[in-house]
Amino acid sequence: MDVRNCRSCKRLFNYLTGPVMCQACKEKLEEKFQEVKEYIRNNDMATIASVSEECDVAVKQLKQWVREERLVFSNEECSGIVCENCGKPISTGRFCSGCKNNLQNSLSSALHKQPEKKIEKSVKDREKMRFLKS
Ligand SMILES: [Zn+2]
Ligand SMILES: [Zn+2]
Repeated sequence: MDVRNCRSCKRLFNYLTGPVMCQACKEKLEEKFQEVKEYIRNNDMATIASVSEECDVAVKQLKQWVREERLVFSNEECSGIVCENCGKPISTGRFCSGCKNNLQNSLSSALHKQPEKKIEKSVKDREKMRFLKS
């Protein structure tokens, strides 16, 4: 048994996997996530700072959700997130679409994939960006 202190409420709990957080706090965080998602959906120009303030969530947490591609900002200038490769502002994930394509291309050529496959993949990725995972 692995008993740890919850990162959020400091209570002891039975740690299994993932973030060091008790079940109650995980659920609370998930509710918060839905609230944030809703807020961004209704506020086109929402910035990471305004979301943090309006929804009372740490900027660090918001950035983590964006990196995980769970949150997508409609305006990439507002997300406060930059491409880990070239530093361009992005709306979600870790890389801008250009760098993503480059990475995918080098990955596919390394695997000797057909060009058609590449196109298919980038279309799929774009679809994914349009919708938020819950
Ligand atoms: Zn807790
Ligand atoms: Zn980039």
